[in-house]
Amino acid sequence: MSHHLVITDLHVSVGDKEILKGLSLTVSSGEVHVVMGPNGSGKSTLAHALTGRPGYHVTSGSATLDGVELLHIAPWERVRAGLFLALQQPMEVPGVRPSDMLIAAGADPQRVANDIRREAQAVGLPDSILERFVNVDLSGGERKRAEIVQLGVLRPHVAILDEIDSGLDVDALGMVARRLQEATTEWDLGVLAITHFRRLLQELTPDVIHVMSDGRIVTSGGPELVEVLERDGYEPFRQK
Ligand code: ADP
Ligand code: MG
Repeated sequence: MSHHLVITDLHVSVGDKEILKGLSLTVSSGEVHVVMGPNGSGKSTLAHALTGRPGYHVTSGSATLDGVELLHIAPWERVRAGLFLALQQPMEVPGVRPSDMLIAAGADPQRVANDIRREAQAVGLPDSILERFVNVDLSGGERKRAEIVQLGVLRPHVAILDEIDSGLDVDALGMVARRLQEATTEWDLGVLAITHFRRLLQELTPDVIHVMSDGRIVTSGGPELVEVLERDGYEPFRQK
């Protein structure tokens, strides 16, 4: 079955400031979409709004996964519906082990330890991650890789990853990008990767690049857009 995340005319405010001003985007199974854009254009706000983070108010628009309105259901129900979100700054969850969290999110209790071991290996994390509390005492780069471990265990339909590449050294970056690329065929994962850096895209092949400016997507195109952005920067795309 093919899955579709459909974001339509999304408006999001923080306090009385409108940050997302009508964002539309569709990600289907097996596709890799990349969102790029200058600092402050609203990329993380998109991730926060879809996670249901308090303080991010959706004032209009919709986000559905296979027809289910995500914005009307609790964050854990969004996970159960098949959405996975890796935030720019993964949170520490003291007192909770990765296996407990993954079982709560729908992982099979019989298989979770093995699955974590396998996925940890794929991104170069030691087995001892199993024994630690979620993200506690992990470095920034380890947290990013731990997010990919969770993704590999849960096998969501669509994953949104906010700057998964930040804080990763070149080897870790390669492992993360390869695991994501594999997932697009292994279980047809749809990927929406938010990133500043083209280096993520050396081993993760994008189908569509979106350029975001001032709360909207102003241009979408093929992988060749990365070259244009590299050459000309964001200024030519800036929303006036
Ligand atoms: P990006 O991820 O593209 O750099 P963000 O979504 O983090 O952009 O931020 C977009 C705009 O929203 C910025 O002007 C930022 O200051 C503002 N913003 C985001 N989150 C908050 C918040 N919690 N409180 C106040 N302003 C915020
Ligand atoms: Mg951001």
